[in-house]
Amino acid sequence: MDEKMYAYKCTDCSELHHPKHFVCKKCGNREFEEVVLEGIVTLLTYTKVYNLPEGYMKPYLYFGIVKFENGVTVSGQLEVSEPTIGMKLKSNVGVIKEGTNSDHYGFIFEEIK
Ligand SMILES: [Zn+2]
Repeated sequence: MDEKMYAYKCTDCSELHHPKHFVCKKCGNREFEEVVLEGIVTLLTYTKVYNLPEGYMKPYLYFGIVKFENGVTVSGQLEVSEPTIGMKLKSNVGVIKEGTNSDHYGFIFEEIK
């Protein structure tokens, strides 16, 4: 798996953006460098989602909002049996199913074993 997700770091003031912005929300600069989002995250909040679209093989999924160590917050799918706010998770990038012909890459967060 070599798909990666990125944050976009302003070359001027170092503000991190995710998803991509065209203009820095802090200083107005238009130049960014890509920073790979990976590693350990902290779970900020989550919801249990029922009535999943066609293509999922489970009755429900957890979706969470997590924070990377660099401060960027993102949302993604949780591969966790019992999520707890504040728990540490490992970030992965994988195929998020969205129906039969529109798979796309997104974050999947796993328990650290
Ligand atoms: Zn900036």
